Amino acid sequence: MAVLKADRPDECHNDLVVVGAGAAGMTAALVAALHGLKVTLLEATEQVGGTTSTSAGTLWIPGSSHGTRAGHGDSLDEARTYLDALIGPDDPQGLRTAYLSCAAEAIDYLEANSSVEFRSAGTHPDYLELPGAAMAGRAISPVEFDGRRLGNAFFRVRPPMPHFMVLGGMMVGKADISALLGRFRSTGKLLHTARLLSRYALDRLRGYRRGTRLVMGNALVARLLMSLQQAGVTVLYGMRCESLVHEAGRVSGARIRRGESGESRVIGSTAGVVLCTGGVGHSSELRRAFGTDVLQSRSLSFEGNRGEGITAALAVGAALERSTPDFLWQPVSLVPERAGRQSLYPHLFLDRAKPGLLAVDRAGRRFVNEGASYHHFVEAMRLASEKVQGPAPAYLICNVAFVKQYGLGAIHPGKTDLGTWVERGYVAVADTFEALARKLGIEAEGLESSVRQMNEAAVQGGDVVFGKGSTAVSRFNGDPDQVPNPCLAPLIEGPYVGLEIWPGESASSSGISTTADGEVLTASGLVVPGLYACGNDMASIWRGTYPGPGATLGPAMVFAYRLVRGIVAKRQR
Ligand SMILES: Cc1cc2nc3c(=O)[nH]c(=O)nc-3n(C[C@H](O)[C@H](O)[C@H](O)COP(=O)(O)OP(=O)(O)OC[C@H]3O[C@@H](n4cnc5c(N)ncnc54)[C@H](O)[C@@H]3O)c2cc1C
Repeated sequence: MAVLKADRPDECHNDLVVVGAGAAGMTAALVAALHGLKVTLLEATEQVGGTTSTSAGTLWIPGSSHGTRAGHGDSLDEARTYLDALIGPDDPQGLRTAYLSCAAEAIDYLEANSSVEFRSAGTHPDYLELPGAAMAGRAISPVEFDGRRLGNAFFRVRPPMPHFMVLGGMMVGKADISALLGRFRSTGKLLHTARLLSRYALDRLRGYRRGTRLVMGNALVARLLMSLQQAGVTVLYGMRCESLVHEAGRVSGARIRRGESGESRVIGSTAGVVLCTGGVGHSSELRRAFGTDVLQSRSLSFEGNRGEGITAALAVGAALERSTPDFLWQPVSLVPERAGRQSLYPHLFLDRAKPGLLAVDRAGRRFVNEGASYHHFVEAMRLASEKVQGPAPAYLICNVAFVKQYGLGAIHPGKTDLGTWVERGYVAVADTFEALARKLGIEAEGLESSVRQMNEAAVQGGDVVFGKGSTAVSRFNGDPDQVPNPCLAPLIEGPYVGLEIWPGESASSSGISTTADGEVLTASGLVVPGLYACGNDMASIWRGTYPGPGATLGPAMVFAYRLVRGIVAKRQR
């Protein structure tokens, strides 16, 4: 490796170096700057946001001020009861306790001191019905943001997934989708739709390549970027951290390279380095070590996330904390794109829970409450495929009328002619279940029997086998206009549609072992001085479980805040 400048960490004086500009890194850099530290944020690419920018942007914050003000009456004791039931009562490093005690404070601090702003997501149930679970109040969402406020820096915000935009560049959140689909049903929805469309048209006329009205993860990233600008944080774009400078038993800087093959140099820092490179992501080395091949799961992590933070930490003695599973899941379908490429569509909440859809395995058998959370849906998929021979896909089955009403994966609602999607090989369509099963390569008898069972459940208004429409999460994502059960309708009229889905990952759960203050630990439990980790680089405090909406961005931002507070406290001692 060519080292052009002094190979020592003293050429540039920083109090803190933060590596990776997703939610975790941007928050750590922001809080450090707000506390008066001289901080440099390294970002490997030319844009901030990583996976955060493509996310829904929800944070799971028990006892948040927003939940309290909205009257949801959440209590930290209830949240603790829920987590104990979910994960078990032991909390070896006190991370869970730290999270609960600090989460609301971190959000209040950010809102009081920066352009970061959230609102209560209102009703948004926890993902499992365990003691202490809440229906509302724990999830918060970023307030939409006007990208024009960033001026020329708007292009620095990584765009969302194309699948989550309409008309080639207009972002839509859950409320927008409901307005767009129901625009002829109420004046309010019609006005909302008109506002969205006219704003978008104006943006395009003004020369923006995409709409500037940002929602979800994009709003969060843009708000963080605006705040970094206001706090005067230096962001070094196109600077990839390759390794850490570890001298005299402490981390005192990072070795960085411009682009993939540009000049390499060292950047030093007095208080240390914070790793926030987005977790395991696409690291073939770590994935091999975990035994995760592409059939077992596909990563939805930003493509530039290669596990480099974790690898760099391991090289200086950090311990890797594994959980079972190593990842947090989302079911994905594989969308054929141009030139033989494929993109991943994450099936979060738009189709699975809706009435008139069932999910089956290769034997044509149902195996899950289709309206379960994405994480628990994939857990059931993995269990079902273990019974066969290794990893196997599952299939979402519905009809053309369903697709027209709700959409199916990458196919937006309103479509009745699925011809191009069939030609591209995304879905199979047939007039009978037998023919559909043949096209999908699954057992027809099993499929017919599953549909019969589902249709009976729809008539009776309850799914006694898997509980679709009887759990809070499935009802929340169902269709409120469908009575008596928002998730059940008979699937009788063809043509029928089938879509193959696979396990995918929204985040890694295994990661670097840390204290509750983000200090990186060795296998023998000693702190590696000067080294910190948060976001998905840090092992998930949920240890492979998934409590509710916002379970990775919540800890990413809260522990980023907490670790900087710890650093500041140490410097004052
Ligand atoms: C479709 C989807 C929806 C989701 N919705 C939610 C949600 O609503 N709530 C929730 O809690 N979670 C959600 N998640 C998960 C969530 O997005 C991630 O867990 C989270 O964004 C991770 O944040 P991070 O800061 O750790 O990493 P990232 O946001 O991925 O940021 C990592 C950054 O590090 C940079 N980087 C990588 N390597 C280097 C290097 N060597 N040197 C310098 N920079 C580097 C990358 O370029 C990137 O900018 C969702 C995920 C997906 C895929």
